[in-house]
Amino acid sequence: MTNLIALNEHGGLVVPDQLVVPVAVGDGVGPDIWRAAEPILKAAAERSGKSLSFLEVPAGEEAVRRVGSPLPDETLETFKRHRVSLKGPLGTPVGGGLRSLNVAIRRELDLYACVRPVKWLPGAPSPVKRPELVDMVIFRENTEDVYAGLEWPAGSPQAEGLIGYVRDELKAKIRPGSAVGLKPMSEFGSKRLVRLALEWALREKRASLTLVHKGNIMKFTEGGFLAWGRQLAQEDYAGRVVLEAEARPDETRLILKDRIADNMFMQTLTRPDEYGALAMPNLNGDYLSDCLAAQIGGLGVAPGANLGDGLAVFEATHGTAPKYAGQDKANPASLILSGAFMLAHLGWTAAAESVRAAVAGAFAEGVFTLDLARQAGRPAVSCSAFGRAVLERLA
Ligand code: NAD
Repeated sequence: MTNLIALNEHGGLVVPDQLVVPVAVGDGVGPDIWRAAEPILKAAAERSGKSLSFLEVPAGEEAVRRVGSPLPDETLETFKRHRVSLKGPLGTPVGGGLRSLNVAIRRELDLYACVRPVKWLPGAPSPVKRPELVDMVIFRENTEDVYAGLEWPAGSPQAEGLIGYVRDELKAKIRPGSAVGLKPMSEFGSKRLVRLALEWALREKRASLTLVHKGNIMKFTEGGFLAWGRQLAQEDYAGRVVLEAEARPDETRLILKDRIADNMFMQTLTRPDEYGALAMPNLNGDYLSDCLAAQIGGLGVAPGANLGDGLAVFEATHGTAPKYAGQDKANPASLILSGAFMLAHLGWTAAAESVRAAVAGAFAEGVFTLDLARQAGRPAVSCSAFGRAVLERLA
């Protein structure tokens, strides 16, 4: 029997009971948090009658040292072959040099949705008064918008050419000598993201899905996202989804809301319980994901995944946290909970629940790494000690 995942005729995963998952351990704190997370995920699978093993693949700085490339083709091929993978944080140089490895992985594998569940675990310190009201899943478009990598430096022939084209053909002004970038957003890209979010919100019986946008200012890009999202809901989900303005007081259908992004940032703080799922373009999603993560304790606690059709890479949502690299101080909870999210995606629900419950158990008893201990005003445990505490609490 193969230990590779297959797809059924509806595009769903057919997962073998003995599974091998590729893992890119990552840079910075990546090795620290992986050492803590790996035994927990393996044990949770085993206790629910499954077998999970990991195949380490090179990516990031370690890959440059070993094979001379930060993102070897073989790593991407392995991610594709195995369909479901896991990754730690990968460093991204600011300015010139390499473009973001994370963006490259998302684009190469066409992982068009970045999905971040944000739910507070009791006991975790939070900067807000009622963190128990926060239970949202963010669906962020991953391949378009100003993150498409279409930008050119000030004074370059490309930037000057674009400025000239805009001046001569479009009769519009850009200050000479500007750096310029493009913000492409398509009907195809917007609709497939909103479809994934609608399917999830319907399956999980959420009360609403909110389209978050800046269409009041960027009328054709972000405004397009809103219009295409609404059109999809009205045409393909009629009877199951209703626009907020047409919803009845006792509505049982999924309510499609829309909010301008700046207002949405405020609402996540003032009225978080009115939102169950959010879908949005790339840049807004990047900001809002971290803002929401802060409400449940910070980046060290927030899980995430990048999903495409039949492909998924689950990841710690934070970066390489270089100041803690190799010091056994980082919080491994984001990676552990991303692993739990992966187990749920595989259909291994009992294993996923046991991992979440074990992390919650550790938090409830005040077992915190530095990042949370500082907020809670308690002594900190090491990264490895937190991992052991979770393992001990695994049912
Ligand atoms: P970061 O997430 O590494 O750090 C932000 C803050 O959170 C820092 O104070 C850091 O110490 C803290 N932090 C992050 N993870 C933590 C953890 N597990 N435990 C305790 N504290 C934690 O973001 P940054 O400093 O903006 O970026 C550093 C590098 O990581 C950059 O090269 C950036 O491009 C890259 N990055 C990668 C990813 C990814 O791989 N998905 C995401 C974001 C940033």
